[in-house]
Amino acid sequence: MEELFGKHVEELRELGRIGDKHVRIAELVDRAAEELAPIEIEAYMNRQVNLKEQVRVMKKYGLLGLQVPEEYSGLGGDAAAIALAFERLGQLGMGLVTGMDVQLCLTEAILARWGTDEQKKRYLVPEAKGDKLMSFCLTEPEHGSDPSSLQVGFDEVDGGFSISGEKYLITNGSFADAFIVFARNKQRGISAIIVDRDEKHVSVEMEIREKPGLFTSNTTLLKFDGAFAPRENLVGSFGKGLSLAYTGLLSGRLGIAAGCVGAIEDCLNAALSRSREREQFGKQIGRHQLVQKRLATIEEQFETARLCVDRAAYWKAKYDARPDDIGLRKSADHNVTLAKVIATNAAGKAADNAMQLFGGFGYSIIGAPGRHYIDVRASRIYEGSNDVLELKLASDLLGAGFEAYG
Ligand SMILES: Cc1cc2nc3c(=O)[nH]c(=O)nc-3n(C[C@H](O)[C@H](O)[C@H](O)COP(=O)(O)OP(=O)(O)OC[C@H]3O[C@@H](n4cnc5c(N)ncnc54)[C@H](O)[C@@H]3O)c2cc1C
Repeated sequence: MEELFGKHVEELRELGRIGDKHVRIAELVDRAAEELAPIEIEAYMNRQVNLKEQVRVMKKYGLLGLQVPEEYSGLGGDAAAIALAFERLGQLGMGLVTGMDVQLCLTEAILARWGTDEQKKRYLVPEAKGDKLMSFCLTEPEHGSDPSSLQVGFDEVDGGFSISGEKYLITNGSFADAFIVFARNKQRGISAIIVDRDEKHVSVEMEIREKPGLFTSNTTLLKFDGAFAPRENLVGSFGKGLSLAYTGLLSGRLGIAAGCVGAIEDCLNAALSRSREREQFGKQIGRHQLVQKRLATIEEQFETARLCVDRAAYWKAKYDARPDDIGLRKSADHNVTLAKVIATNAAGKAADNAMQLFGGFGYSIIGAPGRHYIDVRASRIYEGSNDVLELKLASDLLGAGFEAYG
């Protein structure tokens, strides 16, 4: 197993935080990551969306339903398994993490918790088997941080719903077989509806290629133009759309935070190798004290992020086991939010440190620090910008009545 990741798995086991099943999942993810690493780098260098290969390899190792219950063809992993998996994938880059987070966390968490048996059979099982990809469609061109004002609408029509409007920055949108769309209706409120891809009524208006990084991830502007969804595709009940989105985001934020831990690990590995290999002033740069200081700083950033993610995974697993417990929900929510903010910030700083340590060669996407530096930046924006999440943290601390937003 990759060394730092292996040590982490060992330590969690030693502490009694994880068991044999987690270790088996970690080994599978490690093997998938080994196979995917060269493919992912090549795609990145060619600025190619790599979702098909990502899915092929994840499917080969049976990882696409990592937290889907076994009865629905998944591995039945808990939040700690998700955190470990995304940590290892994060070493390969946040492009991979972003795409997989939508499948394994955002959409699967919603269907596993809120889907009807029929929806689970039609969407969750094929998702877990890697036969169906789904996108999470919340953000719109005019409405991001404040989803309560979203405008995509649905009308009730004979046998179901007709959905119209644009969804922006949608990951995997060009490839998804179906979409969980959050849409509004005057009488019914914001609701979550599964829409199947239908070339006539669902179009990719734009593939957003002008991103500074995350090249291997697909980001799209989608247009729903009277797309039909049968009535049985309503997920949960009318008016509960934002609660369902929250279920997905709670899982997704943990995945993103863990991915950032992996990105820091990769930066640390790269920085250590470079410190041993590169010589300046007649010695390895790792023998210069300020370079050592920088390495220590990256390790501090790694440990801070890792410990927060471990703790968040612990509380989220407890909450998932008792989803009606309000106290556990608060602990999970607060700790996942903290982990997302801390790990994404730490990853930005660690990649910056690693890039500096690499010198001029670091200012390039040929080396891992340069790629991570660009890619982890997005993690402070998506799945709840860190600014908005910090407001959430503060209002948790201050108590009821202090919510600064929504
Ligand atoms: C690569 C990528 C992939 C994405 N994938 C998806 C996806 O699959 N599905 C999906 O639905 N969305 C996706 N998003 C969208 C993402 O979740 C949004 O970009 C994010 O929620 C922020 O919304 P916004 O971009 O509209 O920013 P805005 O809401 O316009 O915010 C602009 C700025 O104002 C700040 N701000 C806003 N309100 C407040 C406030 N009350 N107090 C303080 N500051 C505030 C924000 O922090 C931000 O800095 C993706 C985004 C990116 C970059």
